Amino acid sequence: MPRIGLADPREADERRSWLADYFNPVEAVDTAAPVSDEVKYTTCYMCACRCGIKVHIKDGDIRFIEGNKRHPVNRGVICGKGSAGIMTQHSPAKLRKPLLRVGERGKGEFREIEWEEALGMVADRLTRIRQTDPRKLAFFTGRDQSQSLTGFWAAQFGTPNFAAHGGFCSVNMAAAGMYTMGGAFWEFGEPDWERTRYFLMFGVAEDHDSNPIKIGLAHLKNHGAKFVSVNPVKTGYSAIADEWIGITPGTDGLFVMALIHELIKAERIDLEFLVRYTNATWLVVQNPGGADDGLFARDESGAPLAWDKDKQSAVDARDTGFSPSLVGEVTLPDGRRAVPVFHTIAARYLEPEYAPEAVAGKCGIDAATIRRIAAEIAHTAFEEPLVIDQPWTDWAGYRHEKMVGRPVAMHAMRGISAHSNGFQTCRAIHVLQILLGTIDVPGGWRYKSPYPRQTPPGPKPAGKLEQIQPGKPLPGVPLGYPMGPEDLLVHPDGKPVRIDKAYSWDAPIAAHGLMQMVITNAWKGDPYPIDTLFMYMANMAWNSSMNTKSVMEMLTDRDPATGEYKIPFFVYADAYASETVAFADLVLPDTTYLERWDCISLLDRPIGGAEGPGDSIRQPVIKPNRDVRPFQDVLIDLGARLGLPAFTKPDGTAKFPGGYPDYIVNHERKPGIGPLAGFRGEDGKSVGKGAPNPRQLEMYIENQCFWKHELPLEQQYFKHSNKAYLDSAVAMGLLDTPEPIIMQLYVEPLQKFRLAAEGHGAVQPPADKRERVRKHFDPLPIWYAPLEEQATETATYPLHAITQRPMPMYHSWGTQNAWLRQIYARNRLYVNRRTGEGLGLADDDWAWVTSPHGRIKVQVKLMEGTSTNTVWTWNAIGKRRGAWALKTDAPEGNQGFLLNHLISEVLPGTGDGTPNADPITGQAAWYDVMVRIEKAAPEEFGETSPMFDPQPLPPNVQPAPDTLRYGALFRAERRRNRP
Ligand code: SF4
Repeated sequence: MPRIGLADPREADERRSWLADYFNPVEAVDTAAPVSDEVKYTTCYMCACRCGIKVHIKDGDIRFIEGNKRHPVNRGVICGKGSAGIMTQHSPAKLRKPLLRVGERGKGEFREIEWEEALGMVADRLTRIRQTDPRKLAFFTGRDQSQSLTGFWAAQFGTPNFAAHGGFCSVNMAAAGMYTMGGAFWEFGEPDWERTRYFLMFGVAEDHDSNPIKIGLAHLKNHGAKFVSVNPVKTGYSAIADEWIGITPGTDGLFVMALIHELIKAERIDLEFLVRYTNATWLVVQNPGGADDGLFARDESGAPLAWDKDKQSAVDARDTGFSPSLVGEVTLPDGRRAVPVFHTIAARYLEPEYAPEAVAGKCGIDAATIRRIAAEIAHTAFEEPLVIDQPWTDWAGYRHEKMVGRPVAMHAMRGISAHSNGFQTCRAIHVLQILLGTIDVPGGWRYKSPYPRQTPPGPKPAGKLEQIQPGKPLPGVPLGYPMGPEDLLVHPDGKPVRIDKAYSWDAPIAAHGLMQMVITNAWKGDPYPIDTLFMYMANMAWNSSMNTKSVMEMLTDRDPATGEYKIPFFVYADAYASETVAFADLVLPDTTYLERWDCISLLDRPIGGAEGPGDSIRQPVIKPNRDVRPFQDVLIDLGARLGLPAFTKPDGTAKFPGGYPDYIVNHERKPGIGPLAGFRGEDGKSVGKGAPNPRQLEMYIENQCFWKHELPLEQQYFKHSNKAYLDSAVAMGLLDTPEPIIMQLYVEPLQKFRLAAEGHGAVQPPADKRERVRKHFDPLPIWYAPLEEQATETATYPLHAITQRPMPMYHSWGTQNAWLRQIYARNRLYVNRRTGEGLGLADDDWAWVTSPHGRIKVQVKLMEGTSTNTVWTWNAIGKRRGAWALKTDAPEGNQGFLLNHLISEVLPGTGDGTPNADPITGQAAWYDVMVRIEKAAPEEFGETSPMFDPQPLPPNVQPAPDTLRYGALFRAERRRNRP
């Protein structure tokens, strides 16, 4: 691997003296010497965890970064990525000035222009679009942390065509949780790390929720809890688990349903929890073929009904003080038949198809192991209850003398989510948690405030046809939660309204949009052509797209009739010369995370914990040395230029002339509710709700850039039903009403979509989508084989191929980092040793990997810790040569590779553009692909395939130096000052 270092005029001298220092350490090390003349607090952005950091600065440059001990997310812990933020700041790939394309699109030929010219160009174009047809703007962002601003801006513009990266990340996780219990894993909830005694983790890579999980696992290990990791690959967290279950990809739902089967069979269910906090008692109408089949029985006011066993009559299910029936069919006063939700659950999961023996072969887990895990969970939950001596009162006014919990906790992430059966699998995990009574109880899984939210969730997505008006904002935000077919964004004939076809019959509950389909659909002009594609921080011409080569071709394809690009104008904002920059017509250079203001908002995805809500900011810790602007400032500036109502004053001048910090402090989404919940009110003493505080940012900085509100212990558990918590959440503006959150074992909105597919209601799917909807929209979790796997000849393609990201890297940002590249500068395909040897492969051999969609050449490594039917690699390490200012002979570009070339964004075999995604949410099914491997010929060894022409550097971006050594100047200064 080439050496990586910082260009330094004194480098040769320095190297000589460094060696001299090394071999003759005459210098005494003063470990307490001041290393900086200034320390600034801010929030890390080297991954999505949002840890608090202290940045030490000397002479205007960063000396080092450490974790903030007071910060609620990381409590002083910093990971390799976080401390290597220095080298992301020093990346040679930083863009320097706005760029306008001068050559063919994709060739990376630009000239630098001034900001005024760039913003004028965008404003002119967008003004024309907004005044004619706002849908012609497609505005999509990557893993940015300002979605409460970007989504609001899109709504103000009036386009429904907005989403961030969730559709290709973990929308299944978020949507399944929100529809089931008003919270979900990761940013919405966490295990009770210090109290849980049994922890079951599904499909979690090493990078997501990085420091918090590491800290949590340390707690688990310290108090002797059992940690079971269910994952096809035994790396990272799985490697330190007490038990690793190497499951076959895409079968986790089946495994969980077998656990449910065993628990119900053994009557190891928390019935009291179900009756108190869930819809287990609600009656479900049994009227096969009828328009009400599978819906809840309701009274005239719409209240759901339950059956009172004592009075033998239907009552409001939300009442207390009656004796509810959990099983058995009843006859309603109007003569219809109905059964309680729990009855439907027991009937389904007691079926022999969910018995351990029946699922063992598919899951790759023997039946005895499944039985043992079920028994262990049951034992911990029911024989080792955990009690906190803390009285609390529930929403109905009943006082409970203690908080009693069942200490089994679960966590799941993208390995579950990124399958086409991921929504139902995530639902199954939540149903398992609820049946055990482990939601927001001591030792269980806990909501992170501001969650829980109401179930089913709100708001609904804005962007119905009649809501899209030239020159007008949408009446709400483009992303939301449909409650039934009437909330879809479709034409009367079922044609999608949105360019990504979110909220259409392709993906009715696409709560995060389908970013992975935007370029394909825009290129096809399906459902309509767009004018401008506006993207931020989304590397769609490389590792963020399925079918990467075709996506590059779509971005450069021209209409033969007009000679114009099929996607007419592409504006791209990024801080670095990523692969996608070369495909833009106009590039808006962003700052780094250490150079700007930012806001980790309760309106977006905040940093709250189970013990209370919280949010945080980033402040600029150093000044940019380039002509770049924070994207959020640019968006607010454009909002004023376009005259968007929320960004302009009545006289037409800019409402937030101070840019993003001005907006953070003064914008109110509702009266008293703004981007930051801390230090509100004119005196900064209001919590959650309050008038804008002109000193708010100063007060955050004084508090080390975060705000945390610690709930009293009385409010820290049973938040879904805890009167004191619900009242305080309303007072803080976290909830609209103090109504209890009732967990939805049975999700009625799903049944409404299924009824539409069966021919009921005013909004029905087109004929070719009916079966897809009918089959998958089951109100109780179901399992089906991943859709791409179903469409693949598995005898020809017998291996599952998946990816994960390594602990020291995140997305493509990490792989340009000079320090982190020294850990991984290339990736290999990891193959189970037995499988590999059976194919004649040895370590470091090169091999062809073929899927029904494509073929790549990779270098192989054999290992024991992966399922025999699974191959995997690190994602986003392979780079296009020349991109990110890496040298054209860099390992990332020559030996690193992407699995993306093997994955189609369109579901194979459908031929109609149906996305290769979960049919409920549109979540990209990255992990459904099946492959075969063949050893490459000896003359083919040495280089990956496919290989693309190197991308040229943008103007004034310097090629990476041969040696990039951080700290050389510091050492030189120390030597000069040596006595
Ligand atoms: S876990 Fe993520 S946010 Fe925290 S220090 Fe590491 S990179 Fe930064």
